[in-house]
Parts: sequence; C-alpha cells; structure tokens
Amino acid sequence: MSVMDILDKRSAFSFEVFPPKTDVGMEKLCGEGGVIDQLCSLKPDYISCTYGAGGTNVGKNVEVLDKIKQKTIGVTHFTCIGNTKEGIREQLQNYLDHGINHMLALRGDLPFGWTGTGGDLHYATELVKFVRQEFGDKFTIAVAGSPEGHIACRSLEADIAFLKQKQDNGADYIMTQLCWDMDQFRYWLDAIRAAGIWMPVDVGIMPILDQAATINMALSRNGCVMPRALCEIISKNWIFPNPFVKDPFDADVEGKKASFKAAGIEYTINQIDEYRACGINGIHLYALNKYEDVAYIAKEAGLIDNV
Ligand code: FAD
Repeated sequence: MSVMDILDKRSAFSFEVFPPKTDVGMEKLCGEGGVIDQLCSLKPDYISCTYGAGGTNVGKNVEVLDKIKQKTIGVTHFTCIGNTKEGIREQLQNYLDHGINHMLALRGDLPFGWTGTGGDLHYATELVKFVRQEFGDKFTIAVAGSPEGHIACRSLEADIAFLKQKQDNGADYIMTQLCWDMDQFRYWLDAIRAAGIWMPVDVGIMPILDQAATINMALSRNGCVMPRALCEIISKNWIFPNPFVKDPFDADVEGKKASFKAAGIEYTINQIDEYRACGINGIHLYALNKYEDVAYIAKEAGLIDNV
C-alpha cells in the first residue's frame, strides 16, 4: 500500500514525530504502549519521522521508523545537504532494506554556522531526480511546498516553478510548510494548479500548544505570517518577561500556559476546518511526540472515522 493509493481515493490523515535524543525519550515514543502505539490507535494513514539535516540522528530515525512500520506506513524525511551521492544511495538502500519505501525529499535547513550545502546535491529538485534515477519507482516521494514562499526564495513565482520541477523530476505529492495565513494559502493553491502542478497537497499543521514553541516555529526559520487572532492569543497570555526565559517572574505562569493551550487548541481545530474546506488532500498533524492534546484535536476536528 502506498500513500498515493490513499490520496487517489480520499483525504489522508497522518502524524509527524521526531527522533528523541535520549533513551528515555525513545522508550516513551517507541516502547510498548508508548506514543506511537497510542497514535496508531487513531488509525492514521501514515506517520512520518523527521531527519536531522546533515544526518545527525540517522540511527534513531531508522529505529523510530522500524516501530512505525509495524503499525502503519512509515515515511522518512530525508535531506541531501552535507551528503555525497554515494552516501545518499547507501542510506536510501538501508531504508528499503528496513521496509521503508516512502520519503519526504528535502534539501534541509543549513545547520548553524554552515555557509553552503556541503554535499553533491544542492536542492530538493536534484534529490528527487537522483532518487528516481537510482531507485526507479521503489520510493513514494513527497516534497515540501511553501505556501508563503520558502524564506530564501527570490520570489513566490520562482518557488512555484521549482515545485513544478520537483513534480517533473518524479515527485508524487506535496507536504506543506506551516502556514496560518489562509488567504495566502488559497492564493498559493490556485497558483500551483495554474502552474500545472497536479500533485496532491497534504497540509502540515502544528498544534498550537505552547507559546514559545509557536513563536519559535514561526520566526526562527520560516518567517510565517501570524494572523491577528493568533497574535491576540499570544498577547493575552504573555508570560513576563517573555515566554523564552527559564524562570519567568510572572505570577500566573501556569494559568497563562493553560489558557494559551486551550485557546491554541480551538484555533488549531478551526484552522483544520478552513483547510479542509479549501479542497486539500490531507491533514498532516505534527504530533510533537505527544498523544493527549493531539488526539483531542484530531477527534474534535473530525479527522478520525469512528466506524
Ligand atoms: P528546496 O526545494 O531545494 O528549496 C530551497 C530554496 O532553494 C528555496 O528558496 C527554493 O526556491 C530554491 N530552489 C529550489 N530549487 C532550486 C533550483 N533548482 N535552483 C535555484 N534555487 C532553487 N528539515 C530538516 O532538516 N529535517 C526535516 O525532517 C524537515 N522536515 C520538513 C518537513 C516539511 C513538511 C517541510 C515543509 C520542511 C521540512 N524541513 C526539514 C525543512 C526544510 O529542509 C527546509 O525548509 C529547507 O530550507 C528547504 O527544503 P526544501 O526541500 O523545501 O528545499
């Protein structure tokens, strides 16, 4: 079964997890009755696992995918920066040997201090072409799409042209970058279709649960627009002096965290409604290696069939 078989017939629903750094974290995620088992009780069509750009966490990434594939389709994220063609070939063969035949083909964010891509391939377009040349149709290939334009793109039009090139080179479907600006998303969806991009669009959603994580995700790399309604939730629950400090002097830290989370969950559910009304092909929830809040969002948003 391929994710494409599902997307051909109906909307997909999936989760994303990341490889924990510690053994305790790995046990919590992959152990018996752990987060992956819990997430799989919601019957997602697939679970993807992130990959440290430059290959920093490859071992743990494969371990997590070994666990995922016992229950559902496993999709590995994979970045080409800092890697030779030979290294990429070997790693991808290793995924196939482990029964992982779905990948999200990415360039990768340059780690802090890097000045170039440091490998044989420089863009996701090249990676897609290389994978098809080397492995034919053995992999189902997803690629990233940025509704607001990738932070380094020279224009949205150029970014869309490169997305079309990923399709021309053999990519199967799109997984989108975080985007809270729904007008921009609708504009982008129309624009990619006008550009001849027919790949299904699986929309990435980060649950809004934590103030610092939300601001960090939006602004540390991606330059995402935050709509006024989301800014209001942040401002009304601002933890003083700011949500990034370890020991805030705010007298109501716990109360504000709780009310931020409640408002953020409601915001996330409404956003999923809006996306689904746009004619997208799937919702991909960043599970953040958590279960309860993510399951609540998935259930309330109606992503889970109870039958
Ligand atoms: P590309 O598509 O290669 O684009 C990068 C930039 O180059 C863009 O500005 C584009 O316009 C431009 N460009 C593209 N092709 C060409 C070309 N042929 N010539 C000139 N310019 C070109 N990062 C990780 O390290 N690990 C992860 O697990 C991970 N998961 C992600 C999951 C999703 C759903 C998304 C959307 C992103 C993820 N990222 C991850 C981040 C991603 O690696 C970064 O956004 C990275 O900076 C760009 O990757 P890309 O594949 O979009 O790059």
